[in-house]
Amino acid sequence: MEYFASQFDIAVIGAGHAGIEAGLAAARLGCRTAVFTINLDWVGNMPCNPSIGGTSKGHLVREIDALGGEMGVAADKNTLQNRMLNLGKGPAVHSLRAQIDRREYSAYMKNVLENQQNLYLRQAEIIDLYREEGLWYLKTRLEAVYSAKCVIIATGTFLAGKVYVGDVCYDSGPDGMFPSTELALALKKLGVLTRRFKTGTPPRVNRRSVDLSEMELQPGDEVTTPFSFTTKEEIENKLPCYITYTGEETKKIILDNLDRSPLYSGRIDGVGPRYCPSIEDKIVRFSEKERHQLFVEPCGRNTGELYIQGLSSSLPEDVQLKILHSIPGLRNAEVMRTAYAIEYDCVDPLCLRASLEFHDFEGLFGAGQFNGSSGYEEAAAQGLVAGINAANKVLGKKPFILDRGSSYIGTLIDDLVTKGCSDPYRMMTSRSEYRLVLRQDNADRRLTPLGYEQGLISEERYAAFKEKLNLIEKERGRVESIVIAPSEDINEMLVSRETSPLTTGAKLSDLLKRPQLSYDSLTQYDPSRPDLDRSIFEQVELDLKYEGYIKHQQQQINEMRRLEVKLLPDDIDYSKVTGLRLEAIEKLGKIRPENIGRASRISGVSPADINVLLIYLERGAGND
Ligand SMILES: Cc1cc2nc3c(=O)[nH]c(=O)nc-3n(C[C@H](O)[C@H](O)[C@H](O)COP(=O)(O)OP(=O)(O)OC[C@H]3O[C@@H](n4cnc5c(N)ncnc54)[C@H](O)[C@@H]3O)c2cc1C
Repeated sequence: MEYFASQFDIAVIGAGHAGIEAGLAAARLGCRTAVFTINLDWVGNMPCNPSIGGTSKGHLVREIDALGGEMGVAADKNTLQNRMLNLGKGPAVHSLRAQIDRREYSAYMKNVLENQQNLYLRQAEIIDLYREEGLWYLKTRLEAVYSAKCVIIATGTFLAGKVYVGDVCYDSGPDGMFPSTELALALKKLGVLTRRFKTGTPPRVNRRSVDLSEMELQPGDEVTTPFSFTTKEEIENKLPCYITYTGEETKKIILDNLDRSPLYSGRIDGVGPRYCPSIEDKIVRFSEKERHQLFVEPCGRNTGELYIQGLSSSLPEDVQLKILHSIPGLRNAEVMRTAYAIEYDCVDPLCLRASLEFHDFEGLFGAGQFNGSSGYEEAAAQGLVAGINAANKVLGKKPFILDRGSSYIGTLIDDLVTKGCSDPYRMMTSRSEYRLVLRQDNADRRLTPLGYEQGLISEERYAAFKEKLNLIEKERGRVESIVIAPSEDINEMLVSRETSPLTTGAKLSDLLKRPQLSYDSLTQYDPSRPDLDRSIFEQVELDLKYEGYIKHQQQQINEMRRLEVKLLPDDIDYSKVTGLRLEAIEKLGKIRPENIGRASRISGVSPADINVLLIYLERGAGND
């Protein structure tokens, strides 16, 4: 028999990467918050690669940290290996990636949630969700009923989860956890439109059965970089990764058994991630390629489990074993976990506002994989924003919206709720039109003031941040006041890149603007250099080197923001706006953009439609 258990301000369904950040943000902003999960022993689970960050995902983690989220700190505390990717390219795409101790990370996050004031972590499966008299009610499998003013759904890949391995398919969540089937039905009953997406993961093998001497060693960086701007201790590399490749034999095994793949036999309906293809997909889509690179990654210090990145599959187990044994270093590999694909329910994010609240369900928010994205970092970013906004709703504050000019988080959410996604959305640097401004190294300068304003950054941290800004400004002033005389060495460096040698003294700041010169290469000419954290020098050098480009991009951002402040009423009847094309009326009516800027990014809404809307607003919206 059901019983009323307790009342909360905010209830979060899920303690995955999204649920953690949502719960912490809401509780840290003073709301009485419950976080429900199906299995307490897998809080912050990594059912796929045991790593945090990577291209553009590293940007998201630093932005989460700059706003006062937890993922960056947790990653630094549980790092096995730390590497800055894309150092051969420009700073806009430099991205941090860390191999993570999966078990330790989960235990760390569970501990943070347990000790967070105002937060109540509960192992319970939510099987029903309904609204009565302005409150949400959540019912558990064990018939407890909780109420909450706001609910955040962060159910990941559990919602009506179905696992596929060859001909075998069964209802399940990831890693053998049970699926969330009844909640999926309850959401449908509520009128939430869901669809089927899928994703997949590779096998895990036992280290003792792997011949690492047949693989390339991939060590961590000598100089490591923390994700969190608050991490002061040195990040240590504890375990390396390895690289190996598939070959002709692998290709043949896969092509010979393609008919046994649920992907190719059409048994899986769900749409998979374009940018995280299974090995079957890679062999078929890139048939001209002779080999595919695989990363062999450690999963933890106290386990021999190795994750074979790049070998995600849903082929039958016997075929998976043949594939593994066709690869150098894995010829005698012992499988510990079979690769599988999982299909699950998620919403179309076009039904969400930029605050991640549902258009049609007041006080109901979505975050993470449930919103159609893929990836721990994408999930955590949405969780943070949904948590802040649910709290702001309870506290009567205005929504916290990050625009595309502020961050990758803003770009991620704007893409989801304005353009939608036809397959699991993964962040990439190419998704941002302001990459040079949105670098991973300056996330705190862009976002920490906003995190402080929201109440997620402590006074102490904010004071340290302001001190950093002072030091950057002072150092900038210093390099602009120092003149360096021309020297043979400097000119050699300049001439090496076909730039004119110095003939007269030059300001240190001007030299730092030169692509082939840097603080490191100018050390001997800068004896008065103060002893500062290397992040200060990095900021000054990047500001100088990219000054012109950054200024230009900032102007573009200001132009974009000019349209973002032109608000569109929520209840506007677009069919009454004379001059709008039918497609625009349909799209605008469905997506209900909050402002002209967002309206202009909806596919099918033309510049002419935007002009019509601007005139309509000038004439005073809603008078028609
Ligand atoms: C097999 C597999 C392969 C993947 N491959 C990739 C990949 O290649 N690339 C990539 O970027 N990402 C991949 N992912 C995705 C990645 O795991 C997710 O992106 C990430 O974990 C999503 O975080 P989340 O917080 O949205 O959900 P999750 O981390 O899945 O957390 C969901 C939480 O909701 C809880 N929950 C669900 N239903 C209920 C309920 N009814 N009641 C109470 N609690 C509930 C669960 O217990 C859990 O705590 C993969 C995931 C899986 C499972």
